[in-house]
Amino acid sequence: MRIGVLAAQGAFAEHISALKKLGVEALPVRVPKELEGLDGLIIPGGESTAISLRMLDNNLSREIAERIGEGLPVWGTCAGMILLAKGSPGAYPEPLGLLEITVRRNAFGRQRESFETELAVPALGEKPFPAVFIRAPSIEQVNGKAEVLARLPDGTPVAVRQGKLLATAFHPELTEDLRFHQYFLDIVADKR
Ligand code: GLN
Repeated sequence: MRIGVLAAQGAFAEHISALKKLGVEALPVRVPKELEGLDGLIIPGGESTAISLRMLDNNLSREIAERIGEGLPVWGTCAGMILLAKGSPGAYPEPLGLLEITVRRNAFGRQRESFETELAVPALGEKPFPAVFIRAPSIEQVNGKAEVLARLPDGTPVAVRQGKLLATAFHPELTEDLRFHQYFLDIVADKR
């Protein structure tokens, strides 16, 4: 299995190393040609505006949107989730708009800008997941086809899935827990 990690900016090296620990081929993607032959793609966290500008520069936005249309499984973490979303007030340039959620950037305010919490994620089993939030977006609306996988105790959704698209507001690649990466690989392999 070959998984690409968009390497425009942000936490791509950490995703590559998590994927390698799970024994799959993990490749950085910087130009459209590198999307060829991939079974799945991760759009990492970082600064969504910077990532998005690079994607436009390299013509990756259009190519990725096209591949998603053809069924390529994609997982967006944090800024990556913002880029997949249908709407994000104030996000510039426009997100790809493929995942039926609306998000709000930097939604957790100064006091809770970065925090870690033990998150219940039924799809991953009983053991809570150590979720690291860094200037994270919140999911404000979940529409039609998107399904919520996890919520904060106050009810805010923080992980969703829509067919072969997965999005988390937090950073599983910054922990030792590989269950979210395995979950994405299972989606890619049609096991979930
Ligand atoms: N605050 C960033 C943004 O809005 C996202 C932060 C992250 O990916 N950790 O783009």
